[in-house]
Amino acid sequence: ASPQQRQRVSVLGSTGSIGVNTLDVLARHPERYEVFALSAMSRVDELAAQCLQWRPRFAVMPEAAKAAELRRVLREQGSQTEVLDGAAALAEIAAHPDVDAVMAAIVGAAGLAPCLAAARAGKRLLLANKEAIVVGGALFMQAVEQGGAMLLPVDSEHSAIFQCLPEDPSTWAQRIDHIVLTASGGPFRQRDPASLADVTPEQAVAHPNWVMGRKISVDSATMMNKALEVIEARWLFHLRPEQIKVVIHPQSIIHSMVVCRDRSVLAQLGTPDMRVPIAYALSFPERVESGAEQLDFLAKPTLTFEDADERRFPGLHLSWQALRAAEGSTAVLNAANEEAVAAFLERRLRFDHIYRVNRQSLEELHPEAGECASVEGLLALDARARRHAQALIAELSA
Ligand code: NAD
Ligand code: MG
Repeated sequence: ASPQQRQRVSVLGSTGSIGVNTLDVLARHPERYEVFALSAMSRVDELAAQCLQWRPRFAVMPEAAKAAELRRVLREQGSQTEVLDGAAALAEIAAHPDVDAVMAAIVGAAGLAPCLAAARAGKRLLLANKEAIVVGGALFMQAVEQGGAMLLPVDSEHSAIFQCLPEDPSTWAQRIDHIVLTASGGPFRQRDPASLADVTPEQAVAHPNWVMGRKISVDSATMMNKALEVIEARWLFHLRPEQIKVVIHPQSIIHSMVVCRDRSVLAQLGTPDMRVPIAYALSFPERVESGAEQLDFLAKPTLTFEDADERRFPGLHLSWQALRAAEGSTAVLNAANEEAVAAFLERRLRFDHIYRVNRQSLEELHPEAGECASVEGLLALDARARRHAQALIAELSA
């Protein structure tokens, strides 16, 4: 491809685990991709280094003080990158007319507005930011449809399902009986559930198979990550809650499966490396080199499967409960979980109380009709649920 045909990519959350892996894949294909914009919340030095390497047109830091610092560092280095600040700037680089693809790799509901902006502008939207679709729900999918965007999953399980399905989404409903999301079980798969009260943030973020950001690592330990993925799958693949099942697969080799109407089971396998789903989302329907290691069938241990036991992983089951409750309940669950995880990481909340905050928030807070009709409504609901969760956290830690 000539330089004019290169895809111009905005990376939201470029200093994070997914962001860095995305740049790693992009660097392998300079003839196919160029970076249009980068953004991060903190870590000015890392974002500055990325800007010097990639020479994007824009860099965004939502906080003005951080942006000013970045501007100063880049100016000293003679960089041409223009630094923007404010939350609206994220939507701007997501929807800019010169952008082809947006990697949504911000963590949390903070990524909702830029995702919607990219969707409405008809971009190729590479979705790692699962919280955005969990909060956005029907509104998110509407924005994708109305904007004519192409929504591509980056979450490894959803990428696996997507890779097992034909390219034409209109054929999916007819084929799928149900899907099976695999879960590693996280670091506490074999630990006595009664001992979870004493878990420290350091223990919780030490995932056996994947190196990830802190929030998703805690979510993997509580299985709330899988709960969010159940909700994500409901929207991405237009499924009913009962069509989504979860099984523990500790080796993380099978990334998820589609069980077809005729009982044929399709699975996608590979080494646990996020560059594979990232490369697929970038290059679909083609495939490009990702940098991941080949799966060595003979070196790998047996593939095993276990039940996702409700007593050990109570948080997982909140996903189906939220999907069957009033619209907006998944946004409530997500907001409670974001607050609970932050409190746990700051040592203000016990590990096993994350579940209590999530369950109680879901049961006590009732979304009002109409709150899910606009991004403003959803963000207000998100804020209301966070206040509710904060009060529960204060009670539990008193
Ligand atoms: P991370 O914490 O490593 O990185 C998050 C990035 O977002 C950073 O660049 C940070 O500066 C930026 N950011 C954080 N808060 C922000 C805010 N309020 N506004 C703007 N930018 C903000 O997280 P991660 O592990 O890369 O995960 C990113 C997303 O991808 C999450 O939604 C996660 O669930 C999802 N995901 C991650 C993995 C993985 O392997 N890490 C796998 C599947 C899905
Ligand atoms: Mg996943």
